[in-house]
Amino acid sequence: MGGAHFAFTDRWGGVSAVPYEELNLGGAVGDDPAAVRANRERAARSLGLDPALVVWMNQVHGRDVAVVDGPWRAGAEVPAVDAVVTARRGLALAVLTADCTPVLLADPVAGVAGAAHAGRPGLVAGVVPAAVEAMVALGAEPGRIVARTGPAVCGRCYEVPAGMRDAVSEVVPSARAETSWGTPAVDVVAGVHAQLAQAGVAGGLRSAVCTLESRDHFSYRRDRVTGRLAGYVWLE
Ligand SMILES: [Zn+2]
Repeated sequence: MGGAHFAFTDRWGGVSAVPYEELNLGGAVGDDPAAVRANRERAARSLGLDPALVVWMNQVHGRDVAVVDGPWRAGAEVPAVDAVVTARRGLALAVLTADCTPVLLADPVAGVAGAAHAGRPGLVAGVVPAAVEAMVALGAEPGRIVARTGPAVCGRCYEVPAGMRDAVSEVVPSARAETSWGTPAVDVVAGVHAQLAQAGVAGGLRSAVCTLESRDHFSYRRDRVTGRLAGYVWLE
């Protein structure tokens, strides 16, 4: 039985120029593709991973899950999904974010890992429970799944119109929040952990970092044109 590994990047240590400085890992945000390739390579090596064995998604704020047993075939179109799961040890799953919640999951006993991208739409659509379900289909047990959520915009910063807060909290009551200045807000991280608990995945750890408040992290809401952070999960 091999261990589970979880990692979240910050914005430093890469080669991208302003406004993507420095470690932008997102390929669809306007940055120089050569810089993104170099950054992905650098990040993988720093984690002891083969860059060719990291699976990236084409994220679209939905709830579809891809089951993978290896890297995407060269030249093939990367599927539009917001979660990916695998039963292959040594294969790393990566999720890109800049305020959305990166969710990493692993059942080290079954050897099944999952990564999900949960923004407000993904929370409402249920991408995280869908990822857990896909892992269970591969032999994982919810009670054994270890969960981590990474740097994301916090509930005290994520202001939304009142109607939007109502719509979200109708589906996920735990996501109802208020900004530090007293207006309606959504707490996606709290919502994700409530969904995990409901799926039988308890005790997941959450990053204390709010991307919007941290100058060491990319934040779409703060900067609009900016880079993407990555979360990685893999099993030995
Ligand atoms: Zn915050």
